[in-house]
Amino acid sequence: MTASFQPARVFDFHGKTAVVTGGGNGIGQGVAQALALAGAKVAVFDHDAQAAKATCERIQAQGGEAWPYTVDVTQEAQVTAAMQSFHDHVGHIDILINNAGIAIRRATLELSVADWQKVLDVNLTGVFICARAAARFMVPQQSGCIVNTASIMGLSGGGLYPNISYQSTKGAVVNLTRALAVEWASAKVRVNAIAPTWVRTDFIKPLLAQENLVQRIEAMTPLARLADTEDVVGPILFLCSDAAKMITGHTLPVDGGFLAQ
Ligand code: NAD
Repeated sequence: MTASFQPARVFDFHGKTAVVTGGGNGIGQGVAQALALAGAKVAVFDHDAQAAKATCERIQAQGGEAWPYTVDVTQEAQVTAAMQSFHDHVGHIDILINNAGIAIRRATLELSVADWQKVLDVNLTGVFICARAAARFMVPQQSGCIVNTASIMGLSGGGLYPNISYQSTKGAVVNLTRALAVEWASAKVRVNAIAPTWVRTDFIKPLLAQENLVQRIEAMTPLARLADTEDVVGPILFLCSDAAKMITGHTLPVDGGFLAQ
């Protein structure tokens, strides 16, 4: 073991900078807060300007440093400009949490191509645009870490309700993660993903209202519960940390054993 490896300091992110997309709510907000609490300077990208600002105000109230950017991840020019502006401000971009995502849960026979495309634009093209924009700084600096947000729905066929565009994009994110990890490994840029189970955020509020759905999910999950935001934040921090410095191209399920069955 080298003297430079200090387990107690693995989750110290002082000196690091991070961009969190979809950081205005839910999982992204939790990760942005956690990274800032751990010392990172954080850029919160969200197309909801008020939500991005609110996350930054929470972080600042906790003594952290964060800046809101109104960014739609599907708009290349907005992403490029915000990434450049944050880089100009802090000098380097070390971490990208590629988290913004949407779902249009509709029976496949009734799903319009326009709705299919909307989900692809955010969940897949947005992930590509943001990864590439961050890597334009990470590759030349020969360091960086990207964590994409997949889902257990990218690793299974679902079954509880139809969600074909979501499942397709999250499956694509798993393989995009592998491919980018291989392409950028020589530049020491690590690319991983997480695949959460259902997480109690606004994203699944309409589902939680469905009769018996929570009970059915619990029955299908060995740990017998849905995830909370902090259940997902810890694994993301792990993937960003030096504890994971030999891990790239991996998708980490955060699923209470759902996929293990
Ligand atoms: P959320 O709806 O609570 O938050 C998503 C955030 O992304 C919002 O602040 C929203 O304004 C922002 N956003 C949406 N479209 C955007 C765009 N085009 N550009 C910029 N920002 C945009 O959702 P969440 O539950 O925190 O989900 C975050 C990620 O986790 C998503 O990729 C989602 O697919 C994934 N995920 C969620 C769950 C779950 O059950 N909640 C499970 C597995 C994976």
